[in-house]
Amino acid sequence: MARQEKESRGLVPGLLSGMATTARTAFRPTHTRQYPDVAPDLPPRSRGVIALLADNCTSCMLCARECPDWCIYIDSHKETIPPASEGGRPRQQNVLDRFAIDFSLCMYCGICIEVCPFDALFWSPEFEYAETDIRDLLHEKERLGEWMATVPPPAAFEPGALEEVVVDEPATEEDATQPPEATR
Ligand code: SF4
Ligand code: SF4
Repeated sequence: MARQEKESRGLVPGLLSGMATTARTAFRPTHTRQYPDVAPDLPPRSRGVIALLADNCTSCMLCARECPDWCIYIDSHKETIPPASEGGRPRQQNVLDRFAIDFSLCMYCGICIEVCPFDALFWSPEFEYAETDIRDLLHEKERLGEWMATVPPPAAFEPGALEEVVVDEPATEEDATQPPEATR
């Protein structure tokens, strides 16, 4: 009996406190975005999807080797191309046959983009590529290339972060034989 009285005494203040909280928050502006009717404001460096600039890719395999999830698939073959100048030797170059990323395995760590020495991979903020069939999350070279249109331009450096490197023009014939000095 005493326990029931105690509980009923605590019920009224608790109810009033709950109603006061409801009244306080009822007229506050909401922070919930009504996605998909309202697009979210994404930070400029959002990691949505990875885009491939195939022309820059040399099939060096560095990204595929460093990917912790092993979800990058690259096939290439070598082709012999004519020498750069007359009398030179024919050269060999890698030709990219396949480049695919399986986004059902990717954990968006960005390591592949960081390690690419040839600026062939970029983050795009696009994230609306959910699929009903998980196999469709395997994006092949062509689809990865299409994402390039959504890659934002690189952010400007912060003031003072990097000054332009100026290479002096050789002033005299003697200077021209010396390697140019970079000055800041
Ligand atoms: S973001 Fe990470 S997990 Fe995804 S493909 Fe690149 S290295 Fe692999
Ligand atoms: S690291 Fe860059 S250049 Fe090398 S295979 Fe990957 S995307 Fe191509």
